[in-house]
Amino acid sequence: MADLVLRAARIADDIDPVDIVVTGGHITDIGPAQAVSGITEIDCAGRVVIPGLVESHLHVDKALLDRERPNPDGTLAGAIAVTGELKRGFTAESVRARARQVLDLAITNGTTVIRAHPDVDPIVGLLGVEVLLELRAEYRDLLDLQIVAFPQEGILKAPGTLDLLREALRRGADVVGGCCYNEADLADCHRHIELVFELAAEFGVPIDIHADFADDAADPRFALADRVAEVTERTGMSGRVTLGHMTSLSGRPPAERRATMARLAAAGVAVVPLPATDMHLGGRADPIAVRRGIAPVRELWEAGVLTAVSSNNVRNAFTPYGNADLLDIGLFLAQTAHLSGEADMARLLAMVTEVPARIVGIGDRYGLRVGAAADLVVLSTHRVADALLDRPDRCYVLKRGRVVARTTRTRELLRPTISPVHPDSGVLSHA
Ligand SMILES: [Zn+2]
Repeated sequence: MADLVLRAARIADDIDPVDIVVTGGHITDIGPAQAVSGITEIDCAGRVVIPGLVESHLHVDKALLDRERPNPDGTLAGAIAVTGELKRGFTAESVRARARQVLDLAITNGTTVIRAHPDVDPIVGLLGVEVLLELRAEYRDLLDLQIVAFPQEGILKAPGTLDLLREALRRGADVVGGCCYNEADLADCHRHIELVFELAAEFGVPIDIHADFADDAADPRFALADRVAEVTERTGMSGRVTLGHMTSLSGRPPAERRATMARLAAAGVAVVPLPATDMHLGGRADPIAVRRGIAPVRELWEAGVLTAVSSNNVRNAFTPYGNADLLDIGLFLAQTAHLSGEADMARLLAMVTEVPARIVGIGDRYGLRVGAAADLVVLSTHRVADALLDRPDRCYVLKRGRVVARTTRTRELLRPTISPVHPDSGVLSHA
């Protein structure tokens, strides 16, 4: 007997629904009408099943701060300043409480893997990393949590940060982060990149850098993707480097940005646009024709750059919206990046599932296939192509074959019925 069988699951729109058999936390069979029975059986009745959502870029430690103090001017500088002030009041209890809230939301919304980017700097020290190390253990049966040691305040600009990053990695952070635009001048930005790669080599970890986060590349601190690609190739880090934001790419002349994207693709550097933040903070100085301020997603696809999408922030000075819902973020990207139609919808769904799984390094054990971990989500929709458009309920969320969240909701259309009223009134009464 199997541990669990999902009956009549829609996994593709061009084949009949299949049964998914799970044993020992892994998918052991996929096919029509499997004879085996399960200790637990879920009748999907033709509803769509997708692999668990993968949030590759989320600031769990800074989530839900908006109610304490919002962004005074809506800019990136304003967000960094107000969050820097709020960070001075952080305690382990306050960070833990907000982080738990956002992790719970994400799980309920179908997320089974999160790469979290807690700040590491002289203001908070290792507080965020320590809380997330605790939560990584506490949540281990609910989701896989990766921890990025993230120098939000810069490395050279905030003396002491380099030692803190090293200590975070020593204590168990999985990834070294960067914020290469947040330095005093271009030379320091270049040094910042070198330091991040040196730490990655020292600890044998991947790299995830916030980069080129501006409306355009007028300031060269926001046009460092080519340099990151060059260092990636030089250090043999291909396939282990990710860049978040990358909004200034859209502001560069077409030939120039195509050359940069070709370079990123050749170097094996992935890109994660963060549209909820990018759209909110971008274009603030544009008096007319306000720019969208998001990376050119279709061009990144065409250039062959591994491109995912992620939430970044939930309700703080950087992004005063959100429910840690990656399907929502995928739909938002569709609406803001001129993406539509079944082919685009399939690529968007991959941008919150298979692609980020590869980016966070779990691609070999992920997906709707035999042998993969049974991280699965049953959606309240019957067409895979509608997984984003329908804004479906996450009926069941499975982590390694165990149901970890469930949504049940009744929606009824109450059709008006004609009551036997006075023949002259013609009144419709609602049943
Ligand atoms: Zn971020």
